[in-house]
Amino acid sequence: MCPAASLCHASAPRFFASLRLSYRGGGAAGLSLAYYLAQEPRLAHKRVLLIEPETKDENDRTWSFWASEPTLFDGLAVGEWSKIAFRSPGFERVFALGKYRYRTIRGLDFYQFVHRALAARPAQFTVVRGRVATVENLPAGARVTTEEGVIFNAVYVFDSRPPRMQRQTGKYRYLLQHFVGWEIETDRTVFDPEVVEFMDFRGEQHHEARFMYVLPFSPRRALVEYTLFSAQPLAKEEYEQYILDYVVNTLRLKPGDYQIVAQEQGAIPMTDHPLPARAGAHVINLGTRAGRAKPSTGYAFRRIQAQSARLVAALAATGHPPPDPTGDRWQFRLFDTLLLDIMQRRGETTRDLFRQLFERNPVERIFRFLDEKTSWADNLRIMNSVAPGPFMRSIAQVLRGRPGQR
Ligand SMILES: Cc1cc2nc3c(=O)[nH]c(=O)nc-3n(C[C@H](O)[C@H](O)[C@H](O)COP(=O)(O)OP(=O)(O)OC[C@H]3O[C@@H](n4cnc5c(N)ncnc54)[C@H](O)[C@@H]3O)c2cc1C
Repeated sequence: MCPAASLCHASAPRFFASLRLSYRGGGAAGLSLAYYLAQEPRLAHKRVLLIEPETKDENDRTWSFWASEPTLFDGLAVGEWSKIAFRSPGFERVFALGKYRYRTIRGLDFYQFVHRALAARPAQFTVVRGRVATVENLPAGARVTTEEGVIFNAVYVFDSRPPRMQRQTGKYRYLLQHFVGWEIETDRTVFDPEVVEFMDFRGEQHHEARFMYVLPFSPRRALVEYTLFSAQPLAKEEYEQYILDYVVNTLRLKPGDYQIVAQEQGAIPMTDHPLPARAGAHVINLGTRAGRAKPSTGYAFRRIQAQSARLVAALAATGHPPPDPTGDRWQFRLFDTLLLDIMQRRGETTRDLFRQLFERNPVERIFRFLDEKTSWADNLRIMNSVAPGPFMRSIAQVLRGRPGQR
């Protein structure tokens, strides 16, 4: 096997012989799969090679997710909350999450934790620094060639390189979840550490979906992020201006009352462009490359864990990845496409849709729906809770096979 960000399950040790070894690197999906593999005693005899070009020795992202049961990485959480707030003009509510918890993990803590676990099994895991150029599916295995010209053969390759999409704008929808966040420390109590500001849509929408997101780590420290669901990133100063407005007008802080201790910037693809989880009998795609960033929300971390668990369970039971590496259900792809279509066609209605969702459904049902675990009955309840007009027009677009345009 091979995540590359490819994990290669090498067929013979000679493939490692000429390589410089490095115990750094790997992204969310490659390292998650490696960690799940390391936890499975039935796969302890499999040799795994991880190829990654970056040192990944910085905190390049922070992952937040909700979960109703314990997860393998809970011990790394730097924050855990049992309440979230939703705000939009005319509707504001703080929701108790019931059996769910919202948690945050820093990327660097995750990278280091997984690398320590892999380093503890040197006979099983090898990590090399390299940039994969090609991955070929062969009749009896797969071959990875790095840009340095080094070749690895493996029984299976798991590929988590970022996807390269040939955009087909007449057929699919292409948006981004993009954001800039400041982690700030204040000189006095400002934040309610019990409540995540999940979506604060009270600001100007500019015909798009724009909201503030605040993760309060303590009464004096929080990540304050300006987030958009739209087609084009903004100039960094624009996001920063909106964060500043929030800091001044909502948090009531003046310059000098706070300092920025860390920053985050990102763009996550939100698209219904097909991102297949299989690239051949011996090549499995992972992470964003396999459509694990949910098209209508951009959340990916839990979906990546679910894919890792599914792959490892099948490998342990049968020796092979499952025929369907994600278990996605078609009706949820359709819901994602409809929501993307509305966001692309009339982005400013997005906040009304989310308002109706939060006003008319228990939060646990919303989370289950976004986790794609709701029953048909609950899906109907969700659909009935939002105004049908925008959906009807997007259904018409889907039937015509054309994305809606503004
Ligand atoms: C700033 C940011 C914040 C996010 N926050 C959240 C969040 O709060 N919650 C959530 O659910 N999701 C979040 N996401 C979305 C998603 O969880 C992350 O993008 C996640 O890292 C995706 O995992 P991945 O393995 O697909 O990609 P990555 O983690 O980006 O890993 C891809 C790896 O491939 C390597 N690579 C690239 N090219 C090559 C090559 N040619 N050969 C070998 N390796 C290569 C890269 O160096 C990288 O390590 C966030 C994304 C970003 C960018």
